[in-house]
Amino acid sequence: MSASSLFWFRDDLRLADNPALCAAAAHGPVLCLYILDESPKRRVLGGAARWWLSRSLAALAEELGARGGRLVLMRGDPARLIPMVVAATGVDLVTWNRRYEAAAIALDSEVKRELTQAGTTVASYNASLLNEPWQIATGSGTPFKVFTPYWRAVRARGEPAAPAPAPTQLRPLPLPESLKPLALDHERLMLEPTAPDWAGGMREAWIPGEAGATGAVSSFLGEAIAGYSEGRNRPDKVSTSRLSPHLRFGEIGPRQLWHATLAARHAGEIPGSAGDAEKFLSEIGWREFSYHLLFHHPDLATQNFNARFDAFPWRQDDAALHAWQRGLTGYPIVDAGMRELWTTGWMHNRVRMIVASFLIKHLLIDWREGERWFWDTLVDADPANNPTSWQWVAGSGADAAPYFRIFNPVTQGEKFDPDGTYVRRWIPELGQLPAPEIHSPWTLSPGKLAAAGVRLGETYPRPIIDLGFGRQRALDALASLGRA
Ligand code: FAD
Repeated sequence: MSASSLFWFRDDLRLADNPALCAAAAHGPVLCLYILDESPKRRVLGGAARWWLSRSLAALAEELGARGGRLVLMRGDPARLIPMVVAATGVDLVTWNRRYEAAAIALDSEVKRELTQAGTTVASYNASLLNEPWQIATGSGTPFKVFTPYWRAVRARGEPAAPAPAPTQLRPLPLPESLKPLALDHERLMLEPTAPDWAGGMREAWIPGEAGATGAVSSFLGEAIAGYSEGRNRPDKVSTSRLSPHLRFGEIGPRQLWHATLAARHAGEIPGSAGDAEKFLSEIGWREFSYHLLFHHPDLATQNFNARFDAFPWRQDDAALHAWQRGLTGYPIVDAGMRELWTTGWMHNRVRMIVASFLIKHLLIDWREGERWFWDTLVDADPANNPTSWQWVAGSGADAAPYFRIFNPVTQGEKFDPDGTYVRRWIPELGQLPAPEIHSPWTLSPGKLAAAGVRLGETYPRPIIDLGFGRQRALDALASLGRA
């Protein structure tokens, strides 16, 4: 029997810098498999991420086809399907790139055990992190809980390995009839919305896939990275890379991003301070840190990292939660963010912090409700970054913002969207209001509001909560923890 292999695509939907794919391709003809895993044992993808996945798989199939390969799609439980495919094809090597959520690790271990027992070689690789979560540890060998020393330890290891090129030629393994793969068509995959089709804004905003990711890197390094250290706080401008969904689905990996950034800096293509490049690399570092935390604290999406918060007196307020989700809180910067999220599947980081703080602190609603909503609506919904960031804002996380730091959505809006451009983009009914009052429409006289066509409570909501009241209630709730 001649050597052949199975490569299992997961969160690594790219050909370049894909070590498990390279190993499989070097071994002989390769069957490239993606399994739509909808088992309730693992966290099911949210709606926006499913849309992204559908588009990304289509792009991947084309990229593979251009190199002589073929993407095979199946639906079901990988623990059942992978051994079945191995038996039907007779491959003697199975490769994949590692994942770090507890449920995925459990699945991979189960599949590996079964295949190895049956005599098939299994090899796994790292494609999605600069360092494995277990490689970075404190002096006493424990996981880090604070970002700065974590990042110092990462930087002390020197530059990450250079990315590997894509395999030039792939020899596809012929498929036995018995396998019955899924056709790559939107309707049959059932990943995209139909009635209603809410993905129009996402189709306009994004180009999922490896080519889209590479294009986003070039345009970011060619332009927005200049001034990134400061500019990254401005939602009214194109101030960040917008690479998060591409990273989430592994259409580009952090090693590639790292070396592309260094190359642009050395070539003098990043005007202004070298600090911008370093700041950008440290944001990649936050992603690494989130995975470090998730690996060592697998319940991050459901359990407070800091157990003191288990006694926190969260409120159940479905009407307020709904107003927040739909962008109808009466606070323009919050509503603009929530509408950007709903329309494009993405929200600027500064605004994510503002809307999360508003939900958790002013509305006193459990951070897990926000985490779940983001999980369903973000195209970059990430098993590590999402819960880590929510817990960071809540104050219950590792190295978290102190709970008493409560963002005021009006002053945040005035500071980071000074001309009101961002609010106008997402809340056209406020479009005629002047800045800075666009961030606090209720402070304008009835005449000024009428002149701008705004009728509070009719064309745009009145604030659902008084900021001073909400702030004090949050501080009292925090103080109650001290007595718990
Ligand atoms: P850039 O500024 O260009 O940064 C480049 C990359 O660095 C990002 O793509 C991302 O991978 C990483 N990064 C940047 N900031 C952070 C951060 N604070 N924490 C971890 N990694 C970071 N990010 C996600 O990828 N998925 C999520 O589900 C997610 N949920 C979030 C929820 C909340 C409440 C908050 C406050 C933040 C969340 N973030 C999440 C982090 C951050 O907002 C996004 O990574 C960032 O806005 C993506 O935009 P960008 O690619 O243009 O970022």
